[in-house]
Order: sequence, then C-alpha cells, then structure tokens
Amino acid sequence: MLIVPPGKAAHFILRKDTGGPGASGERAVTSYLTSHVLPTYARYDLAFERGEGAWLIATDGARYLDFTSGVAVSALGHAHPRLLAALTDQAGKVWHVSNYFRIPEGERLAERLCSLTFADRVFFCNSGAEAIECAIKTARKYHAAAGRPERFRVITFEGAFHGRTLAALAAGGQKKYLEGFGPVVEGFDQVPFGDLEATKRAIGPDTGAILVEPLQGEGGVHMPPIHFLRGLRKLCDERGMLLVLDEIQTGFGRTGELFAYQRTGIAPDIMAVAKALGAGFPMGACLATEQAAKGMTAGTHGSTFGGNPLAMAVGNAVLDVVQEPDFLDHVKKVAALFKQRLAEIKDRYPTVIGEVRGEGLMLGIRAVVPNADLIDALRAEKLLAIPAGDNVVRLYPPLIVSEAEISDGVQRLARACAAIAQREPRTAQAAQ
Ligand SMILES: *Cc1c(COP(=O)(O)O)cnc(C)c1O
Repeated sequence: MLIVPPGKAAHFILRKDTGGPGASGERAVTSYLTSHVLPTYARYDLAFERGEGAWLIATDGARYLDFTSGVAVSALGHAHPRLLAALTDQAGKVWHVSNYFRIPEGERLAERLCSLTFADRVFFCNSGAEAIECAIKTARKYHAAAGRPERFRVITFEGAFHGRTLAALAAGGQKKYLEGFGPVVEGFDQVPFGDLEATKRAIGPDTGAILVEPLQGEGGVHMPPIHFLRGLRKLCDERGMLLVLDEIQTGFGRTGELFAYQRTGIAPDIMAVAKALGAGFPMGACLATEQAAKGMTAGTHGSTFGGNPLAMAVGNAVLDVVQEPDFLDHVKKVAALFKQRLAEIKDRYPTVIGEVRGEGLMLGIRAVVPNADLIDALRAEKLLAIPAGDNVVRLYPPLIVSEAEISDGVQRLARACAAIAQREPRTAQAAQ
C-alpha cells in the first residue's frame, strides 16, 4: 500500500515483467505519482511545458520530437494557429449552454461530417468510449424499435480496443481490463480478427451488429486482410445486421484517407470517432445513417457536455484544415517516405526490429527486444513513441509533420537501434 503525504509528490517503482526469451527479466519502470492522482497509469517521469507543431518542450527545456500525437489525438501538432484562433475566439463568446438549446456550430459540424461520410445523423459526446457507447446503444435500439429487442448481441474481435466504460470493455473483451469489475456487460461475442468464417459461425438469431476497428491500434497496429471489411459488410447485409466501425484511432486522415473505411469501397451503418476530431480538445461523435439511427428519438440518449460550443468551434477548425486540398496528399507523401525509411532501418537492425506495419501515419514496428526497451532508447534520443500489443512500438507523428522531421525521427530511431544492438547483442539475438 502506497501512502503519500498530501501535497507531496512521490516516485515509485513498478516491477514489470518484460517477458520473452532473452529479456532482461524484471525491469524497473519509474513512474511519477502526484499525491492525489489515482495511480492508474505507469507514467514516464517527464512533463512538458509547451508544444510547437511536431515538437514538445519539456520542463527542463529539452526538445522532443513527438511521434505519439498524444495517441493519435494531436493530428495537427501542438499549438496549431488555426485551432488556437478558433478556441480563443469561441472562449470569448460562450462556452456552454446545454443541449436544451440549438448549437449552430454543432449543427454545422454535423452537416459537414455527414457530407464527408456515409452518415445522416451525428451525436456529439466527449470521448471515444462514449462514442462507442452511443454506437452500441444505437445498434441495439435500431432492432428494438423494429420489434426485435432480442437482437442485442454484437460480434467483436480479438485484440480489439474500444475504451474503458463497462460496455466498451465488454466489447473489447480483454481479460486484464475486465477483471475485478463485476459482471461483464452481456451481449458481446468475440472471434479472431480477420477471420470471416469464424464471424459467420458466431452469428446467431440474437446477433444484431458487428463492431470492428478497420485497423487495430492498441492491439498492435494490425491490418486485416483486404477482403475482410467487405466480407463483414456482405454478412451484415445478408443477415439484417448493422456494421459498426470504430474509427476513433484511424479517423481524420491518420491512415492517409479521411476515414480508413473509405479505402475499402464499403460503408458502415454506424461509426464512432473521437481522438483527432478535437485534435486535443476532448470530444467524440457517433455517426449513423438515417435508417440505423431510427431508434434514437428524443430522450433516448444524452450528454451534458457533448457538443458544447467550445468543442464544436474546435471540431469545425479541425475540419477546415484536414479538408484543405493538399492535406491528405501530404499525409500520403510523408507516410510513404516514413515507411520506406523504416524498412531500411529494420534491414539494418534485424536484432531490434522484426517488422514494420500499418497504413499512412499509423505505423507500428514490432520489436525483437522488449518494446519498452526500444521506447526507452527512443526517449533517450528525444523521440517519443508509444507501446501497443504484440510487442509493437507505435510511431504516430502528427499529420502536419514535415519530410525533414520524418528524416530526423528516422535518424533518432537508427541511433536508438544502434545503442540497443551494441548494448545487448546477445539478448537481441536470443530473443529472435
Ligand atoms: C482511444 C480509443 C478508444 C477509446 O477512446 P477514449 O477517448 O479513451 O475513451 C476506443 N477505440 C479505439 C480504437 C481507440 O483507439
């Protein structure tokens, strides 16, 4: 039991089993705990004072190249002048009015999101998990409103991540996140990601929807086979089910398309977005077709903060930027360069990097050494990266990153790999 005197900060050490043959066994991860913050995160002992584009400036003045984008959130980098202007301009007018009133900026944002996607209706909320929650409720209510309330079950996929509310956790199905939190929300059936046959077998008379990430992020930057999403669409059409996409991580240009589904030639019935929608201002949204949304009538769902004028002003400004004609071309161009350079580094350091995968600027490298070791080595080179499942290190630069910054990041990665290969040549080889 950790007891910290009020008002005091404390360091504590987490013992982390890095696992795997040749791994150095237990390794100390230093976490920083402010006295009153619930210690649910193992944080790095590093804090930032400000940011500029792809850079974060630490409290000690050191400049870090940010290839995390706050986990795919800060898509336009830090302190983007257009976002700053939109937020401060709105802050001087009105912050919050509640959803008892019309919010013109929200109506405008909803209309723009619909014109850019398959959707006809948008519900605004404050986070990804809330967007998923709304998506699940919308799917269930669609069937209930049509006189089929028994069709509440949703098929989800192994390795999925949909957020931390009770229903989102049940949908994600990760035991380590569900344990100790009481009965798991009923109605989710998990099958292997990318497996159409298993999906087909899992469909029962009570199945009403399929919920899937077009590219799994937290699970380890997993791309399903090309025909997978199309196959799911077909299954949904044949069996009267709704296809629900979780584009919370992939949305708003991360994969090189505005939304990842737009590359597949199919469209969902419902889609959850968040993260880059607010580019750092907390917001989420659930998009749906008129048909899929037909059960969501007055009083069926709500949110106090959802869609408030500050969030709506920022969301519209984000769309202004990502809709500029060259924006996605830029993402595709730097992404191609990045992926190619990463492949070169992988060839040079096969004892450190096993595989490069992903799409657009949603890239992951599967480490041969423990991914935490590689992330530590990158941080020593002042390059910020984040872990994911399957021993993957995620490299998520802001979408406004320049070619020069990509090259800079790749050089830092090369130096980190060289340091690891030199320090632990035997460990690295043994772990292969
Ligand atoms: C981040 C994420 C979520 C959860 O979003 P929160 O804002 O943390 O609730 C859900 N699904 C996916 C795919 C995500 O990447």
